[in-house]
Amino acid sequence: MLAVVMGNVIVSHAQQSKPNVVIIISDDHSYQTIGAYGSKMGRTPQIDRIAQEGLVFNNAYVNNSICGPSRATLLTGKYSHKNGFKDNETSHFDFSQNLFVKDLQRVGYKTAWIGKIHLGHKLQGFNYFDILNDQGHYFNPDFISNKGTERVDGYVSDIVTDKAINWLDSIDTKNPFCLVIGHKATHRTWMPDPKDFGAYDNDEFPLPETFYDDYSSRKAAAGQEMSIDKDMRMGYDLKMFESWEKMMADGNFKRMNEEQKKQYAAYYQPIYDKLQSDKLSGKALAEWKFRRYMIDYLNTAQSMDRNIGRVLDYLKANNLEQNTIVIYLSDQGFYMGEHGWFDKRFMYQESFRTPFIMKYPALIRNGAHTDASIVNADVAPTLLELAGVKELSDMQGKSFVPVLKSSKKEHRKQIFYHYFENGEHAVSPHFGVKEGRYKLIRFYKRVESWELFDLQNDPQELKNLYDDPKYKGIVKKMKKALLKQIKEFDDKEAEEIFNKII
Ligand code: CA
Repeated sequence: MLAVVMGNVIVSHAQQSKPNVVIIISDDHSYQTIGAYGSKMGRTPQIDRIAQEGLVFNNAYVNNSICGPSRATLLTGKYSHKNGFKDNETSHFDFSQNLFVKDLQRVGYKTAWIGKIHLGHKLQGFNYFDILNDQGHYFNPDFISNKGTERVDGYVSDIVTDKAINWLDSIDTKNPFCLVIGHKATHRTWMPDPKDFGAYDNDEFPLPETFYDDYSSRKAAAGQEMSIDKDMRMGYDLKMFESWEKMMADGNFKRMNEEQKKQYAAYYQPIYDKLQSDKLSGKALAEWKFRRYMIDYLNTAQSMDRNIGRVLDYLKANNLEQNTIVIYLSDQGFYMGEHGWFDKRFMYQESFRTPFIMKYPALIRNGAHTDASIVNADVAPTLLELAGVKELSDMQGKSFVPVLKSSKKEHRKQIFYHYFENGEHAVSPHFGVKEGRYKLIRFYKRVESWELFDLQNDPQELKNLYDDPKYKGIVKKMKKALLKQIKEFDDKEAEEIFNKII
């Protein structure tokens, strides 16, 4: 390949063509367990490779912290009330609307989504798709493609990656491509590949400082049903079944072959037996559940991380590294015991913020972090700009290409958020804004309340200052900022609720 040396920058012919795009999107993977985000708990050497060769976003957020809506926003560059996919329980995604992949197709890209998408299976905008059926299964999952539904033997992270690499092998990489690899990991019920059993058995997991949060001053937080202590199930979640028959009656186990079942029984039976003899209760049982949750979760992440390494190796071995943008992100953040929780949904930091790491050797310098605030709606317009497509007028996201060029640049001053689902885990719908050190949230439907947090003095968001007279001026300022965002994003439902006096 011809290369021209310009100063310290090597510009090759490949770099002058449109960049390829590989987006790796995991499900419920927390930044707290990623090495590149400073985790002392999780080991993610392959995700960390993307960070070492790219840019780590310290302030990447989602518009709506839940699976389907987050992916819908990634595809459309629009918030949930504009793309129509507001929640997992009642929404249907309309693939006929503008999607960034359709714009990429128009300028010559081949596009594919492989793995979990969870937005139905009537895809448009993709030259190829091979997707998990809805949530998908960890073992022997069903995949849906143009050929119909096919059950594939094996472990989901391996199979998704095999299929992604097979697709890359099948296309002519002289033309640009955009591949989305959708992982099921690390979604509930955190079922590891048996080869990763034991990887974290000897690790210590300090309890998060807020594990025993009493939720005083936060009504919506008090009403949730996502507590490790109260709501995490011994069988379904933690694989502690009273008998082999009960284990095999669980849908996730039913799909396993005999070998997989034996490996699961061999790992979990001694844990179950010890739990029986220890007769734990109260705090000791809650802390045991926390520890088992951490181990299952991190073991599950280990297979995904290993498989991300396979994709990076493939790009390198096939001389695609220089001209390929690689993005690693999760569909949202996740609670690892903070506030006593698992799951997501809230606008509080652990689920509002998401891991987001991007590498593109032609543009991004190695190993930097940026404090620029971005939201997942910004990804589509950024990729379109990098691909030389003029931004679509109805996208709400804003390209953050300037941040890629200089990690010191700022991007968004405010981040607007709106969570709509009113169902599983009993989290009240809410919307809000984060600006600088403050966050203002309005809960509605289940709980009618306002919350204000000073993230500088109270980063764990334990003290709701909304009714504190000292913060009257801040509340006023933040309400103004919120209303401005509501208008900018044209969220009529939020505007109506905002104006209601409670
Ligand atoms: Ca998710």
